[in-house]
Amino acid sequence: MIGYPRIQLKVRRAQISYLYANGSYSMPALFLITLLAIWTSGPYVLSPLWHAWLVSSVIILAGRTTHLWWRRTRRSTSIRRLEYEYFIGSTCSAIVWCMGLIFFMSRLPDIERMLMLLLSCMYISASGVLLLNSARCFYATVVPIAAVILLELSTELSPSRNLLIAVVLFCLLFASLARRHVLHWQLADLADRYAHAAMARKLKRTTETLRIASQSDGLTELANRGHFDQQLRTYWRRCSRAVSPLSLLLIDVDHFKQFNDKYGHQAGDECLRRVGALIQSVLRREEDLAARYGGEEFVVLLPYTGLEGARQMAQRIQQSLQASQIPHLASTVAKVVTCSVGVAAVTPDMSNDASELVERADVALYRAKRQGRNRIVIAD
Ligand code: GH3
Ligand code: MG
Ligand code: MG
Repeated sequence: MIGYPRIQLKVRRAQISYLYANGSYSMPALFLITLLAIWTSGPYVLSPLWHAWLVSSVIILAGRTTHLWWRRTRRSTSIRRLEYEYFIGSTCSAIVWCMGLIFFMSRLPDIERMLMLLLSCMYISASGVLLLNSARCFYATVVPIAAVILLELSTELSPSRNLLIAVVLFCLLFASLARRHVLHWQLADLADRYAHAAMARKLKRTTETLRIASQSDGLTELANRGHFDQQLRTYWRRCSRAVSPLSLLLIDVDHFKQFNDKYGHQAGDECLRRVGALIQSVLRREEDLAARYGGEEFVVLLPYTGLEGARQMAQRIQQSLQASQIPHLASTVAKVVTCSVGVAAVTPDMSNDASELVERADVALYRAKRQGRNRIVIAD
């Protein structure tokens, strides 16, 4: 019925938490029933023993109430221990109640005896029926009290008492079967609920992983072209609303074809990974986006940033690449890997378009290449 061990454990924890929650409801009822029993039996059995019974009943119920309240603040306790503690509490109160029945029943007049039996049945209902989540606690409460009721009823045999015995036995059997039946459905329901919750969590994680995978570039782990295009449109609208500039850096690794030819494609891939990581490391603001534009070209989107800020970012990227000193002996520009950067900035409005920004950065990059590479050119 219940699948994974983790779900089983969750179901068991939920059952014990039901046990404690239901237990809190039964305490006021048990106090009331005890008061009624004191009121019923008191006038006939007033004695030190009766006082001792009264005091122990009240102490145990007060102790159990305090225990339930105290346990509510300590959630880390093990399930086994919680059940065991509840078992001890319910067994003690059932035994004290039974002591009262055994000691005083014979001294009560008929009506009060019947009343005490009725109160005993109420005691079972108030505590036992709520304990369906723990067979141990259920039987520890129901069996001793039911046994004493049956004992009391069988002291004198008459047709009406025989009928009452049969009714009590039937109720016991019915309560036991009902407990198992209700528990079965409750367990199935809980297991379903936790299995669905686990499935929903897994689905959410998978969706998130797929979303990230669909937006990132497999080699450099930067954003991919698709995500860049989407973010460009988003930031275009945002900067347009905020009447704020949006800047773009188009970065191209110089003589990368020669790098591949000299060091091989594997080394080329590793070089692109390093360039991607260092571009990312230069970005400071959360909104700044670095993406792989294609091949050995990267793009950086800088919302709410003007030309001067963009130029500084381009310089930092170049300096960072310079500092990393990736050898490139086939380059005519330097003995290390370098890059050319085209920078463009625009304050978006209805008169211009996002593609215009990319085009201007591209033109600037082309000029940087033509002017000898390893430089930054700002678009006009
Ligand atoms: P320029 O300085 O003018 O930019 O010259 P370039 O050699 O860098 O530019 P070109 O466009 O001639 O060559 C780009 C090279 O980048 C060619 C291609 O093999 C290489 N390349 C593109 N994508 C990858 C990749 O994912 N891995 C590797 N190793 N190389 C790549
Ligand atoms: Mg290129
Ligand atoms: Mg290149």
